[in-house]
Amino acid sequence: MRIHHRVVDLKLLHPFKIARRAVDEYRQVVSVEIDGGLGESPPARFYGETVETVRTALEILAPCLDGNLDAIQCVMAELHSALGGNYAAKSAIDMALHDRLGKTLGVPLYRLWGLDPNATPPTSYTIGLDSPDVMQQKTREAKDYAILKVKLGTRQDLQIVRALREVTDKPIYADANTAWSPKEAVRKIRELAPLGVDIVEQPTAADDLEGLKYIREHSDIPIIADESVKRAADVPVLADCVDGVNIKLVKCGGLVEAMRIINVARAHKLQIMMGCMIESSLGITAAAHLTPLVDYVDLDSHLLISNDPYSGVTLKDGRLILPNRPGIGVVQRAVEQD
Ligand code: MG
Repeated sequence: MRIHHRVVDLKLLHPFKIARRAVDEYRQVVSVEIDGGLGESPPARFYGETVETVRTALEILAPCLDGNLDAIQCVMAELHSALGGNYAAKSAIDMALHDRLGKTLGVPLYRLWGLDPNATPPTSYTIGLDSPDVMQQKTREAKDYAILKVKLGTRQDLQIVRALREVTDKPIYADANTAWSPKEAVRKIRELAPLGVDIVEQPTAADDLEGLKYIREHSDIPIIADESVKRAADVPVLADCVDGVNIKLVKCGGLVEAMRIINVARAHKLQIMMGCMIESSLGITAAAHLTPLVDYVDLDSHLLISNDPYSGVTLKDGRLILPNRPGIGVVQRAVEQD
């Protein structure tokens, strides 16, 4: 089966910055189409993937798609045995196969999985790193969202959150993107929690599980692992170190593995966040179909770009509303803006 693909440049409304990476104005995603099913993948250098590695992987994996495409679990198992890693490419294929199956059966993905579309938690909206006054301005612009996710991991972390508290009383999720040492994290979390920071994501290095455990033992708010967890097999060892895990389709290789992470995490009594990279409404809407199963939703990046090629989920009272169309349920926008 042929995999049609194209590279799409998503233009960011605001240049986006996190603790370990400089400002981006554009992010590239790979869009795929398989027998009418649509998928998308935003490869991340942090996980060793680029547009080029995705293209190469798609070529290598295409011959695995010659059998029964409805049997997505089998196809994905075959992809994993044909090629290790390359979860960004596999995620795009997995997404396209789910979209294709939903369209074939005439049902949205949430119905395929027996989920309640009204059970989606409110989504947070991400405020990227900048000077405190620019972050204040971004916060004012985020008036439609009930929760803010604030990127931290700087020397100014407390000043940033205090500045935001001057302009909002909304709950804040903080994300340090691996930037703090364990002791620094404990000290900062003790000061951030009284300011209404409800959870902290990935305070310390991805492989520093002892550090995460130390932080959790000395903090009163939930600690969520992001960079430390990619696939379901990463979850059991994290169960004693954090309170929850952040799932992203591009890290884990698609919806099949995301569902597996959800089941393993629940078996270990962990909380679950569904997150994203910079991606369009296609990737965001695909992930959104799983959100009736999670505690925290951080699916906002389609709102951070000015040339979204698709429309899919919509926002109402701070919650993502799943489209009631077959498959992922996105439609191509008539005119792509520049
Ligand atoms: Mg994160």
